[in-house]
Amino acid sequence: MKQSADVVIIGGGVEGCSIAYNLARDGCSNIVLLEKKTLASGSTGKSCGIIRTHYSQELLMAMAHKSMSVFRGFEDEFEAKSGFVTNGLVFLGTSEEVEGLRDVTVMQQKLGIRAELVHPDNLPKFHSGISLDGIELASYEPDAGFADPYGVTVGFAGGARRLGVEINEGVEATGIEVKNGRVEAVVTTKGRIATRTVVNAAGPWARRVGAMVGADLPLFVLRFQESVMRPAQGYPLSMPTVFDQRTICYYRPESGGFMIFGGAVIELQPIEDPDNYSEKADTEWVENVANVLLSGMNNSSDMKYVRGWAGPITVTPDFNPILGPLEQAEGFYIAAGFSGHGFKLSPMVGKCMAELIMNGAARSVDITPLRASRYKEGKYFQSKYARAPLT
Ligand SMILES: Cc1cc2nc3c(=O)[nH]c(=O)nc-3n(C[C@H](O)[C@H](O)[C@H](O)COP(=O)(O)OP(=O)(O)OC[C@H]3O[C@@H](n4cnc5c(N)ncnc54)[C@H](O)[C@@H]3O)c2cc1C
Repeated sequence: MKQSADVVIIGGGVEGCSIAYNLARDGCSNIVLLEKKTLASGSTGKSCGIIRTHYSQELLMAMAHKSMSVFRGFEDEFEAKSGFVTNGLVFLGTSEEVEGLRDVTVMQQKLGIRAELVHPDNLPKFHSGISLDGIELASYEPDAGFADPYGVTVGFAGGARRLGVEINEGVEATGIEVKNGRVEAVVTTKGRIATRTVVNAAGPWARRVGAMVGADLPLFVLRFQESVMRPAQGYPLSMPTVFDQRTICYYRPESGGFMIFGGAVIELQPIEDPDNYSEKADTEWVENVANVLLSGMNNSSDMKYVRGWAGPITVTPDFNPILGPLEQAEGFYIAAGFSGHGFKLSPMVGKCMAELIMNGAARSVDITPLRASRYKEGKYFQSKYARAPLT
């Protein structure tokens, strides 16, 4: 392992690997990435992989939109399987979301994203199985899709390696040396790396990594569950992803006639220690999934539960990520707190963080509203939907 580097990235999830690749592509030549377990073994490996641009904040919509074109061309750019499927997305709103749906659709069209509002009577054109009770308005985004988070992470890592990045799996950062307010080195389980720039992309462990430079980052970890279901007649890959605001849930097709279901249908529990939590879906969750599907879909009584899992999401006070430098320790950057929506943003997270580190500012999208100091300044960056904090 190298003993000095221009940049050390802590975390081999989708964000750390995207940052490593983009830094190397922008000309940074001496980068080390540390991953304490294996690539994508944190939140990334548990992700549902949904990709959409439906955000109520233009900054996030722009990041998601630009990221989507990277996902679309991923297999050519990285010579790796991304599993990207375009299946479209239907967002079902109650009376509380009508105004938001209108605003988001106008903003999407302004940014050149294909999107349209859908009256409930016309929903069967997009998804014949949805019961229409309680839906006031919907929107449809034909280019939304999903991809394989593991494949994408390994693809970014492969691209980074080809550009000279040293990726060390099984190596944990255990401390960061700071002298006169500036980062000097990262201490690891395999030795010390002298560096003046560190990126904290440690996902659910990012608060611990922040503590290594004396920061108390406002990051909290919640347990988020997913289930694989299968209707008797199967669920074709061509079916759109559905976000259903009546029950605050979502589902998308998966190959083999399966569907993956997620959402906040039971209260999310905190994870105190991301190294030690139950990764199995709870009985209460499984029972609620069945009830929610029954209430939102026609003919769902023949739906079979196949398996389920739980993974950690790292949330901030406004459910949006922290991207940028930390004032207290020069050379220390944070890319963490992605809640349940960091996968779809990952290509632009990497690009913007690389631009920020190399040039002092992100050019592709202005990410300053996501700076770490925003909470202290009272400038929370939250969704305009009261009941959909991740949009
Ligand atoms: C169940 C679930 C469903 C989701 N569904 C979606 C979705 O449909 N769409 C979407 O966009 N997003 C989704 N997300 C969110 C998305 O998965 C995350 O936002 C994203 O994966 C975060 O990536 P990351 O790289 O920040 O974190 P992680 O993937 O957790 O990576 C952090 C890495 O850092 C390593 N690490 C930590 N500490 C150290 C250390 N000291 N030294 C070395 N390495 C260290 C860890 O081992 C880990 O591999 C979902 C998340 C979950 C849990």
